[in-house]
Amino acid sequence: MIKFEKVYKRYDDKAVVSDFTLNIKEGEFFVLIGPSGSGKTTTLKMINQLINLSEGYIRIQEKPISDFDLQELRWNIGYVLQQIALFPNMTVEENILIVPEMKKWSEEDMENRVIELLESVNMDPDKYRHRHISELSGGEQQRIGVIRALAADPDIILMDEPFSALDPITRNNLQKDVLKLQQKFKKTVVFVTHDMQEAISLGDRICLMNNGKIEQVGTANEILKNPANDFVRKFLQTGLPHYQEEKIVQHLIDGNYYSTTEIPANATISVADSVNDLIILLSKNEVVHVENSEDSSQIVITKNHLLDFLAYEATSSKEAEA
Ligand code: ADP
Ligand code: MG
Repeated sequence: MIKFEKVYKRYDDKAVVSDFTLNIKEGEFFVLIGPSGSGKTTTLKMINQLINLSEGYIRIQEKPISDFDLQELRWNIGYVLQQIALFPNMTVEENILIVPEMKKWSEEDMENRVIELLESVNMDPDKYRHRHISELSGGEQQRIGVIRALAADPDIILMDEPFSALDPITRNNLQKDVLKLQQKFKKTVVFVTHDMQEAISLGDRICLMNNGKIEQVGTANEILKNPANDFVRKFLQTGLPHYQEEKIVQHLIDGNYYSTTEIPANATISVADSVNDLIILLSKNEVVHVENSEDSSQIVITKNHLLDFLAYEATSSKEAEA
């Protein structure tokens, strides 16, 4: 769907994106993650030609982006930014309809679209459509930012750290909305974040960038299970410690995420240690032995146990909020 072939972006002689080759599939929720300055925004903006690439090709449905009419390309790619780029003096409805207006949709189609989109994020159309943007909370504004990107039914949505300025609860709710919207409208989404937890909960696949280069591409599972190199391992270690900080290894035991086998284990952890310590140990070891004074059986936790536990936690925390 969106294919990068040996793409480079240089400023003067310095490459900020190098040798970037990647194929984002149709309907995929694709996450670009990496430290600040790693080239995420540059990569995203090259897709809708807000930044021109220096070398290589980006193709959308096989066609090089340079062959598209620029206006058409931008209209067919929704774009959501961290700093809310809505027009404060216009109403919610006027903001949502900017691109449909330019595309000369009929009044009836526009009317129906506004209602459909507001309802899809649980905002009562009668209550919200005529409000000014300045009368909305930050979270509501960012919801409008997201549905505005969908308004003219583009095939692709680009999102650049859209939720990083929001408080954690609002952020979590918007993540849920975005997943629902993507399933409902079946878009290809390219989503930039520097937050590993966000990447894991949203991404079908994740691309970890560093210094303009790809360190690893894969599902969250694949990356957590088999970090490609030390950079990925370190990134996971620093990126995940905020994850479920209050959780301890005992929670895995209570939930039956362990086995009692004779698998030899090189690493040992105690039931009172944090899940974060376990994540770090399991990024380097296949199996961790759990210290257990109660009886003599050998309790071990494998990468698969941990992933099942994290997946369960992720789903149940989402459901608790719903
Ligand atoms: P990220 O979004 O991952 O934080 P960016 O894509 O914004 O990273 O930037 C990648 C690198 O490119 C950074 O080192 C940044 O300083 C550099 N850069 C971005 N825009 C320009 C520019 N217009 N001129 C020179 N360097 C730039
Ligand atoms: Mg950026």
